[in-house]
Amino acid sequence: MFLDFQQIKQEVAIEDSATMLGLVLKRHGEQLRGKCPACESSERALVITPSKGAFYCHEAKKGGDLIALVSHIKNLGMREAAGAIAHHFKLVPASGPAASKGGKEKETPAPCQGFQPLGYLQHAHEAVQALGLAAEAAQSLGIGYAPKGLMRGRVVFPLYRDGLLVGYVGYGDDGLKLPKNLTADAATETVAADKP
Ligand SMILES: [Zn+2]
Repeated sequence: MFLDFQQIKQEVAIEDSATMLGLVLKRHGEQLRGKCPACESSERALVITPSKGAFYCHEAKKGGDLIALVSHIKNLGMREAAGAIAHHFKLVPASGPAASKGGKEKETPAPCQGFQPLGYLQHAHEAVQALGLAAEAAQSLGIGYAPKGLMRGRVVFPLYRDGLLVGYVGYGDDGLKLPKNLTADAATETVAADKP
């Protein structure tokens, strides 16, 4: 996928990339400060200055823009970091196959965007309640009973990778059912990727 670093910097604020990274920061005037998880630093080593769109890690003595921040925290190359940001914030390349199809960027699903949520799930179904799950909690988590589809007759739980829905695991009388689109290898990878 074509990625324009400039576009990423325009569309994503550095604070949002900090949120994406799960950084715990405290505001000190113009700056946000916190621990650098990559360096396991002191509490204030990582400094983000939103007005400049910049960060500096006093432990590593490194700084830069939000792409450099993601690169530093996640230990990725700049291009990989840019890719992770674009993926997380669902950025569509300004010039690319999606844009040339009449510019309906938001409605054009990119290949990496995973799964559409199942709209027909029943959050208050008795099978959901039988698990001890309140309907409101089930709804907010996207858990529900599937009256149709591949997971028919099961309570399904959404699977996420990097914040994107990648499928559902179904729970029924015969135990767990993994989604067809996730091979055994892909499912293992999902579990592994979610571990800290
Ligand atoms: Zn650091």
